[in-house]
Amino acid sequence: MSESQTSSSARWVIAIDGPAGAGKSTTAKALARELGLRYLDTGAMYRAIALKASRLGIKGDEGQRAAELLETTEIGFGAGEPQPVFLDGEEVTNLIRTNEIGDLASALSAHTPVRKALVARQQAMVAAGGVILEGRDATTVIAPQADVKVYLTASLEERSRRRHVEFGTKGIEASFESVRSQIEIRDHRDITREDSPLSVAPDATIVESGCRSIEDVIADIKALLPKA
Ligand code: C5P
Repeated sequence: MSESQTSSSARWVIAIDGPAGAGKSTTAKALARELGLRYLDTGAMYRAIALKASRLGIKGDEGQRAAELLETTEIGFGAGEPQPVFLDGEEVTNLIRTNEIGDLASALSAHTPVRKALVARQQAMVAAGGVILEGRDATTVIAPQADVKVYLTASLEERSRRRHVEFGTKGIEASFESVRSQIEIRDHRDITREDSPLSVAPDATIVESGCRSIEDVIADIKALLPKA
Protein backbone atom coordinates (compact mmCIF):
# COMPACT_ATOMS: atom_id res chain seq x y z
CA MET A 1 0.00 0.00 0.00
CA SER A 2 1.37 3.43 -0.86
CA GLU A 3 2.09 5.83 1.99
CA SER A 4 -0.37 8.30 0.56
CA GLN A 5 -3.22 5.85 0.99
CA THR A 6 -5.70 6.95 3.58
CA SER A 7 -7.57 4.79 6.03
CA SER A 8 -10.68 5.09 3.85
CA SER A 9 -8.97 3.54 0.85
CA ALA A 10 -7.65 0.76 3.08
CA ARG A 11 -11.26 -0.15 3.82
CA TRP A 12 -12.39 -0.38 0.22
CA VAL A 13 -14.45 -3.33 -0.88
CA ILE A 14 -14.00 -4.33 -4.51
CA ALA A 15 -16.23 -7.09 -5.86
CA ILE A 16 -15.61 -8.92 -9.13
CA ASP A 17 -17.91 -11.43 -10.78
CA GLY A 18 -17.74 -13.16 -14.11
CA PRO A 19 -17.76 -16.52 -15.85
CA ALA A 20 -15.06 -19.20 -15.57
CA GLY A 21 -11.76 -18.24 -17.16
CA ALA A 22 -12.49 -14.51 -17.39
CA GLY A 23 -9.31 -13.72 -15.41
CA LYS A 24 -11.00 -12.84 -12.11
CA SER A 25 -8.36 -14.46 -9.88
CA THR A 26 -5.34 -13.05 -11.68
CA THR A 27 -6.87 -9.59 -11.72
CA ALA A 28 -8.12 -9.67 -8.13
CA LYS A 29 -4.80 -10.96 -6.73
CA ALA A 30 -2.77 -8.34 -8.59
CA LEU A 31 -5.10 -5.56 -7.45
CA ALA A 32 -5.08 -6.83 -3.87
CA ARG A 33 -1.27 -6.71 -3.86
CA GLU A 34 -1.15 -3.27 -5.39
CA LEU A 35 -3.81 -1.72 -3.15
CA GLY A 36 -2.92 -3.56 0.06
CA LEU A 37 -6.29 -5.27 0.31
CA ARG A 38 -7.11 -8.79 1.46
CA TYR A 39 -8.06 -11.25 -1.29
CA LEU A 40 -11.13 -13.44 -0.90
CA ASP A 41 -11.56 -16.28 -3.39
CA THR A 42 -15.18 -17.27 -2.76
CA GLY A 43 -15.04 -20.10 -5.33
CA ALA A 44 -12.32 -21.77 -3.26
CA MET A 45 -14.85 -22.13 -0.43
CA TYR A 46 -17.30 -23.97 -2.71
CA ARG A 47 -14.41 -26.11 -3.93
CA ALA A 48 -13.29 -26.89 -0.36
CA ILE A 49 -16.70 -28.15 0.73
CA ALA A 50 -16.93 -30.07 -2.55
CA LEU A 51 -13.65 -31.82 -1.73
CA LYS A 52 -14.90 -32.84 1.70
CA ALA A 53 -18.22 -33.96 0.19
CA SER A 54 -16.47 -36.01 -2.47
CA ARG A 55 -14.36 -37.78 0.17
CA LEU A 56 -17.58 -38.71 1.97
CA GLY A 57 -19.37 -39.83 -1.19
CA ILE A 58 -21.81 -36.91 -1.17
CA LYS A 59 -23.08 -36.23 -4.68
CA GLY A 60 -23.86 -32.97 -6.46
CA ASP A 61 -27.62 -33.32 -5.93
CA GLU A 62 -27.24 -33.73 -2.14
CA GLY A 63 -27.23 -30.06 -1.20
CA GLN A 64 -28.85 -30.58 2.19
CA ARG A 65 -26.19 -33.12 3.22
CA ALA A 66 -23.44 -30.78 2.06
CA ALA A 67 -24.97 -27.90 4.03
CA GLU A 68 -25.12 -30.05 7.17
CA LEU A 69 -21.50 -30.99 6.60
CA LEU A 70 -20.62 -27.29 6.50
CA GLU A 71 -21.88 -26.92 10.09
CA THR A 72 -18.81 -28.80 11.27
CA THR A 73 -16.38 -27.69 8.59
CA GLU A 74 -13.69 -25.06 8.86
CA ILE A 75 -12.52 -23.36 5.70
CA GLY A 76 -9.66 -20.90 5.93
CA PHE A 77 -7.03 -19.09 3.93
CA GLY A 78 -3.34 -18.50 4.53
CA ALA A 79 -0.89 -16.02 3.06
CA GLY A 80 1.16 -16.68 -0.06
CA GLU A 81 0.94 -17.23 -3.79
CA PRO A 82 -0.90 -19.39 -4.61
CA GLN A 83 -2.98 -18.48 -1.57
CA PRO A 84 -3.10 -21.55 0.70
CA VAL A 85 -6.59 -22.94 1.32
CA PHE A 86 -7.29 -24.97 4.48
CA LEU A 87 -10.06 -27.48 5.02
CA ASP A 88 -10.41 -28.46 8.68
CA GLY A 89 -6.76 -27.51 9.12
CA GLU A 90 -5.49 -29.56 6.16
CA GLU A 91 -3.86 -27.68 3.31
CA VAL A 92 -5.91 -28.45 0.19
CA THR A 93 -4.71 -25.67 -2.13
CA ASN A 94 -3.98 -27.96 -5.10
CA LEU A 95 -6.45 -30.72 -4.28
CA ILE A 96 -9.41 -28.37 -4.86
CA ARG A 97 -8.22 -27.31 -8.32
CA THR A 98 -9.14 -30.46 -10.24
CA ASN A 99 -11.93 -30.56 -12.82
CA GLU A 100 -13.80 -33.15 -10.81
CA ILE A 101 -13.90 -30.91 -7.73
CA GLY A 102 -14.76 -27.87 -9.84
CA ASP A 103 -17.76 -29.73 -11.26
CA LEU A 104 -18.93 -30.90 -7.85
CA ALA A 105 -18.48 -27.38 -6.46
CA SER A 106 -20.60 -26.03 -9.29
CA ALA A 107 -23.34 -28.63 -8.71
CA LEU A 108 -23.42 -28.12 -4.92
CA SER A 109 -23.37 -24.34 -5.29
CA ALA A 110 -26.79 -24.47 -6.94
CA HIS A 111 -28.36 -25.55 -3.61
CA THR A 112 -29.73 -22.77 -1.42
CA PRO A 113 -28.69 -24.29 1.97
CA VAL A 114 -25.08 -24.51 0.77
CA ARG A 115 -25.13 -20.96 -0.55
CA LYS A 116 -26.73 -19.57 2.61
CA ALA A 117 -24.04 -21.09 4.82
CA LEU A 118 -21.15 -19.92 2.67
CA VAL A 119 -22.55 -16.46 1.94
CA ALA A 120 -22.90 -15.84 5.71
CA ARG A 121 -19.22 -16.68 6.19
CA GLN A 122 -18.18 -14.59 3.19
CA GLN A 123 -20.15 -11.58 4.40
CA ALA A 124 -18.47 -11.87 7.80
CA MET A 125 -15.08 -11.88 6.06
CA VAL A 126 -16.00 -8.76 4.07
CA ALA A 127 -17.63 -6.82 6.93
CA ALA A 128 -14.47 -5.07 8.11
CA GLY A 129 -13.68 -3.85 4.58
CA GLY A 130 -10.25 -3.73 2.99
CA VAL A 131 -10.96 -6.68 0.74
CA ILE A 132 -11.24 -7.65 -2.89
CA LEU A 133 -13.52 -10.59 -3.45
CA GLU A 134 -14.32 -12.55 -6.57
CA GLY A 135 -16.86 -15.15 -7.54
CA ARG A 136 -20.29 -15.40 -9.14
CA ASP A 137 -22.44 -13.49 -6.62
CA ALA A 138 -19.86 -11.13 -5.11
CA THR A 139 -21.50 -8.03 -6.60
CA THR A 140 -25.12 -9.18 -6.35
CA VAL A 141 -25.43 -11.03 -3.04
CA ILE A 142 -22.29 -11.07 -0.89
CA ALA A 143 -21.32 -7.41 -1.17
CA PRO A 144 -23.88 -5.34 -3.09
CA GLN A 145 -22.61 -2.38 -1.04
CA ALA A 146 -19.09 -2.71 -2.51
CA ASP A 147 -17.29 0.50 -3.50
CA VAL A 148 -16.48 -0.97 -6.90
CA LYS A 149 -18.43 -3.67 -8.71
CA VAL A 150 -17.06 -5.27 -11.83
CA TYR A 151 -18.33 -7.92 -14.20
CA LEU A 152 -15.23 -9.28 -15.89
CA THR A 153 -15.81 -11.18 -19.07
CA ALA A 154 -14.33 -12.49 -22.32
CA SER A 155 -15.57 -14.65 -25.17
CA LEU A 156 -15.99 -18.39 -24.64
CA GLU A 157 -13.16 -19.03 -27.15
CA GLU A 158 -10.76 -16.73 -25.31
CA ARG A 159 -11.63 -18.11 -21.86
CA SER A 160 -11.26 -21.68 -23.11
CA ARG A 161 -7.91 -20.86 -24.71
CA ARG A 162 -6.63 -19.45 -21.41
CA ARG A 163 -7.83 -22.44 -19.40
CA HIS A 164 -6.28 -24.80 -21.96
CA VAL A 165 -2.91 -23.04 -21.67
CA GLU A 166 -3.22 -23.04 -17.85
CA PHE A 167 -3.89 -26.80 -17.84
CA GLY A 168 -0.85 -27.26 -20.11
CA THR A 169 1.43 -25.46 -17.64
CA LYS A 170 0.07 -27.65 -14.82
CA GLY A 171 0.65 -30.82 -16.86
CA ILE A 172 -3.09 -31.58 -17.05
CA GLU A 173 -3.87 -33.23 -20.40
CA ALA A 174 -7.11 -32.07 -22.01
CA SER A 175 -8.07 -31.19 -25.58
CA PHE A 176 -9.13 -27.63 -26.36
CA GLU A 177 -12.61 -28.91 -27.28
CA SER A 178 -13.06 -30.69 -23.95
CA VAL A 179 -11.95 -27.59 -22.00
CA ARG A 180 -14.37 -25.46 -24.00
CA SER A 181 -17.28 -27.80 -23.45
CA GLN A 182 -16.55 -27.99 -19.68
CA ILE A 183 -16.56 -24.20 -19.47
CA GLU A 184 -19.80 -24.04 -21.45
CA ILE A 185 -21.49 -26.51 -19.10
CA ARG A 186 -20.21 -24.62 -16.02
CA ASP A 187 -21.37 -21.26 -17.44
CA HIS A 188 -24.79 -22.62 -18.26
CA ARG A 189 -25.27 -24.03 -14.76
CA ASP A 190 -24.04 -20.84 -13.06
CA ILE A 191 -26.22 -18.58 -15.22
CA THR A 192 -29.44 -20.61 -15.12
CA ARG A 193 -29.59 -21.70 -11.46
CA GLU A 194 -32.45 -20.24 -9.48
CA ASP A 195 -30.52 -19.07 -6.43
CA SER A 196 -28.01 -16.28 -7.09
CA PRO A 197 -27.36 -16.92 -10.77
CA LEU A 198 -24.31 -15.33 -12.31
CA SER A 199 -25.56 -12.00 -13.64
CA VAL A 200 -24.44 -8.44 -14.17
CA ALA A 201 -25.45 -6.31 -11.16
CA PRO A 202 -27.40 -3.23 -12.29
CA ASP A 203 -24.64 -0.91 -11.09
CA ALA A 204 -21.66 -3.08 -12.07
CA THR A 205 -19.22 -2.03 -14.77
CA ILE A 206 -18.59 -4.60 -17.48
CA VAL A 207 -14.87 -4.96 -18.13
CA GLU A 208 -13.73 -6.94 -21.15
CA SER A 209 -10.59 -9.01 -20.51
CA GLY A 210 -10.33 -10.83 -23.85
CA CYS A 211 -7.22 -9.99 -25.94
CA ARG A 212 -6.17 -7.39 -23.38
CA SER A 213 -3.23 -7.30 -21.01
CA ILE A 214 -3.74 -7.70 -17.28
CA GLU A 215 -2.25 -4.21 -16.87
CA ASP A 216 -5.00 -2.72 -19.05
CA VAL A 217 -7.73 -4.58 -17.17
CA ILE A 218 -6.31 -3.42 -13.83
CA ALA A 219 -6.12 0.16 -15.09
CA ASP A 220 -9.83 0.00 -16.04
CA ILE A 221 -10.75 -1.18 -12.54
CA LYS A 222 -8.51 1.33 -10.77
CA ALA A 223 -10.21 4.10 -12.73
CA LEU A 224 -13.46 3.09 -10.98
CA LEU A 225 -12.06 3.51 -7.45
CA PRO A 226 -13.48 6.29 -5.35
CA LYS A 227 -11.10 9.19 -4.89
CA ALA A 228 -9.38 8.49 -1.58
O1 C5P B 1 -14.49 -19.71 -9.33
P1 C5P B 1 -14.36 -21.20 -9.24
O2 C5P B 1 -14.23 -21.88 -10.58
O3 C5P B 1 -13.28 -21.63 -8.31
O4 C5P B 1 -15.73 -21.68 -8.58
C1 C5P B 1 -16.13 -23.01 -8.61
C2 C5P B 1 -17.65 -23.07 -8.72
O5 C5P B 1 -18.23 -22.58 -7.50
C3 C5P B 1 -18.23 -22.20 -9.83
O6 C5P B 1 -18.36 -22.90 -11.06
C4 C5P B 1 -19.58 -21.81 -9.29
O7 C5P B 1 -20.56 -22.75 -9.65
C5 C5P B 1 -19.41 -21.86 -7.80
N1 C5P B 1 -19.33 -20.51 -7.21
C6 C5P B 1 -20.53 -19.89 -6.87
N2 C5P B 1 -20.50 -18.68 -6.26
C7 C5P B 1 -19.34 -18.07 -5.99
C8 C5P B 1 -18.11 -18.67 -6.37
C9 C5P B 1 -18.15 -19.90 -6.97
O8 C5P B 1 -21.60 -20.42 -7.12
N3 C5P B 1 -19.35 -16.89 -5.38
